[in-house]
Amino acid sequence: MDKFRYERPLIKKLESSMPNKFGMRTEYAPKTHIDGVAVADLISKYGSPVFVLSEKTIRSNVRKARKAFETRYPKVQFAWSYKTNYMDAVCRTFHQEGSWAEVVSGFEYDKAIHNGVEGSKIIFNGPDKSDDDLHKAISNNSIIHIDHFDEFYAIKEIATNLNITAKVAIRVNMDTGIYPMWDRFGFNFENGQAWDALNKIMRSDVMELVGLHTHIGTFMLSPNAYSVAAYKLAELAIGVREKYNHEVNYIDMGGGFASNNTLKGGYLPGVDISPSINEFAEAITSALINSNFRPDKLPLLILETGRALVDDAGFLLGSVLSNKRLSDGRRSTILDIGVNILFTSFWYDHKITPAQPFTQYTEETVLYGPLCMNIDVIREQISLPLLNKGDHVVIHNVGAYNMTQWMQFITLRPKIVMIDIDGKPHVIREGESLQNLLDVEKVPEHLEKFEL
Ligand SMILES: *Cc1c(COP(=O)(O)O)cnc(C)c1O
Repeated sequence: MDKFRYERPLIKKLESSMPNKFGMRTEYAPKTHIDGVAVADLISKYGSPVFVLSEKTIRSNVRKARKAFETRYPKVQFAWSYKTNYMDAVCRTFHQEGSWAEVVSGFEYDKAIHNGVEGSKIIFNGPDKSDDDLHKAISNNSIIHIDHFDEFYAIKEIATNLNITAKVAIRVNMDTGIYPMWDRFGFNFENGQAWDALNKIMRSDVMELVGLHTHIGTFMLSPNAYSVAAYKLAELAIGVREKYNHEVNYIDMGGGFASNNTLKGGYLPGVDISPSINEFAEAITSALINSNFRPDKLPLLILETGRALVDDAGFLLGSVLSNKRLSDGRRSTILDIGVNILFTSFWYDHKITPAQPFTQYTEETVLYGPLCMNIDVIREQISLPLLNKGDHVVIHNVGAYNMTQWMQFITLRPKIVMIDIDGKPHVIREGESLQNLLDVEKVPEHLEKFEL
């Protein structure tokens, strides 16, 4: 047995923040294993830092979400939001669970096709669809959610040239009582713009209005906002039926459900305040059922939820590089995890736990990353036990957005590993190499040689 390290006795001031319903959250259990695989083994095999995804958690999340909606509403379809995490292995896990693809760029569109998603099961969102992208999407019978009038005219021209009826919906933005309002995407409900777009589509003979879409925001903590949004989309759908005798096939409520992360400056931990998927499902489905749809003509309900389905399936494992005292005496710990690979650290206070057993002694610590930049702060303040050089840490809830928004900076981006449902790890993205980066660089001939 190792000799115990000497730790000086300590009188600790109680933290001044409010206790939550479980009391003060000062103690953490170490996170030594992920889906039965030892963190230490993952790091020794795949390096540090390394992203680890749990296939089991992804599948269980999407099944729970489907159940929440399918037990309340007869026709439900999930579409995986590629930008939330577009690793092929992740997308295919969602596709195996029945999710369509929801993409917001030509690159993501191509990735969905590469993953084998049928064109008609790809929903194309976003303000940036080039003529080439639209040409592809219309030819493949994909569903295009129109963002603005310039896009409407582009689709009209391309569909006319191709002599194909484009399947379209409009994205609608609206006042749901959440401010600031996301009114930069799609057509506004309150000022009549949405109706302008609907009238244009209904009067065009190269477009078929198949649905109505909204995505009211992200990390939404209010199920009621979804209820308001669902009523407003239902009102538009029923208006279209009355005016044009045309039924839309679906209402797409977008994504945005909060995950269990804790927002910076949050009063209570995310696990205590984020509404459950059942609460969102209840708000949305009851609004649709209570609106004036004929009971036998309820539209298909599409959900594009991203972060709430994948955040808690992702972990970032790293190691302590060093400890040092700041000029004011505060303890600081430098990790090998920088903000360039943990983009979400700019708005979350992530749960961070040591990966090995520790003693009771904890101290307020600043956690820094390894980058030579002042903004490279993983946590401004966290109560952690003593960690030594070489000790491992686990950052929780990192499955959403980090693996798509990460930046290559100073070092190479790490491997991504997915643990399958039998507890077997697979590398799903190799670590970057110098060669990967040199492959896309070019040196003009006159700069090739130099003497020093
Ligand atoms: C980003 C996005 C989503 C997913 O959002 P989450 O907040 O991750 O649930 C869904 N639909 C659209 C149109 C999006 O842009």
